[in-house]
Amino acid sequence: MADPDTLEEYRAKRNFSRTPEPPGERKVSSNPVFVIQKHRASTLHYDLRLEVDGVLKSWAVPKGPSTNPKEKRLAVPTEDHPLDYADFEGVIPEGSYGAGTVLIWDRGTYRNLTEREGKEVGVAEAIRRGHVSFRLEGEKLRGGYALTRFRTGKGEAWLLVKKDDAEADPERDPVATEPRSVVSGRSIEEIGGGEGE
Ligand code: MN
Repeated sequence: MADPDTLEEYRAKRNFSRTPEPPGERKVSSNPVFVIQKHRASTLHYDLRLEVDGVLKSWAVPKGPSTNPKEKRLAVPTEDHPLDYADFEGVIPEGSYGAGTVLIWDRGTYRNLTEREGKEVGVAEAIRRGHVSFRLEGEKLRGGYALTRFRTGKGEAWLLVKKDDAEADPERDPVATEPRSVVSGRSIEEIGGGEGE
């Protein structure tokens, strides 16, 4: 039996004759990827996406990730995105959902580290249970991170926290000091779109 199509919400929000974003389809790859896209929309945020069962599970992180284990970063879940969205960098036109500029801030592969009572827990199940632990192998970010759900008055939100491992570094602030695309080397202003154009 086919998995339910979790990209319906993604597609329903977008008009693919207007936006350069991919319509996408479910795909499976051997090394799961992650991407963090800096998105200058109505508010600037960083979209963290993890490949899980052929789609990109997604969270919007307003302040972006930290390399300091003492910094908890709010991460708000958003709709699943297609896998080929990990390659998207460009301008979503005015009047479209998410209008603004997208920059591939970091990208690479990740490894699931989630365990429960000494047994590995699959990423999809870990997300359903509200706690996922993983190791990033990106260009800017490396090492362990954890995403943990908490309930708010209005619904759900998550916290993204760096694990206290060899790659933790409270002195680094890559969101501030490494703003450019890992794919094109461009800044968000160089990609264009939005104010100032
Ligand atoms: Mn976004």
